[in-house]
Amino acid sequence: MKINPNISCPCGSGKKYKKCCAVFHKGGYPKNVLSLMKSRYSAFTLGKIDYIIKTSTFQNDYDDLKSFSENCEFKKLIILDHTEDSVTFNATVFCNNMDNSFTEKSKFIMVDGMWKYESGEIL
Ligand SMILES: [Zn+2]
Repeated sequence: MKINPNISCPCGSGKKYKKCCAVFHKGGYPKNVLSLMKSRYSAFTLGKIDYIIKTSTFQNDYDDLKSFSENCEFKKLIILDHTEDSVTFNATVFCNNMDNSFTEKSKFIMVDGMWKYESGEIL
């Protein structure tokens, strides 16, 4: 999928995509868990499944992630809280026109100097 680099970034930063999460999607690595979480959200909205897999500690099924990304519309991300290794957020998500919005506390872990998604607790 060709993505216009000048769209406003899906993570809600207010910056252009090319100056925000695109940096990470192209191989840069987020220095903190908040940037990582936002860039993973953007990756879901843009269908960047490889990035989701790369930034996770466990093996997700590629096709599951792809169908989630394709069948759902990611409308809004609100960060509620974050610590050094966790981010609590609310995501407004509609899947097949049903409201699947959720609030999650994501936990991250440092692996070989890179933050990765470890687990998520739905609140
Ligand atoms: Zn962004």
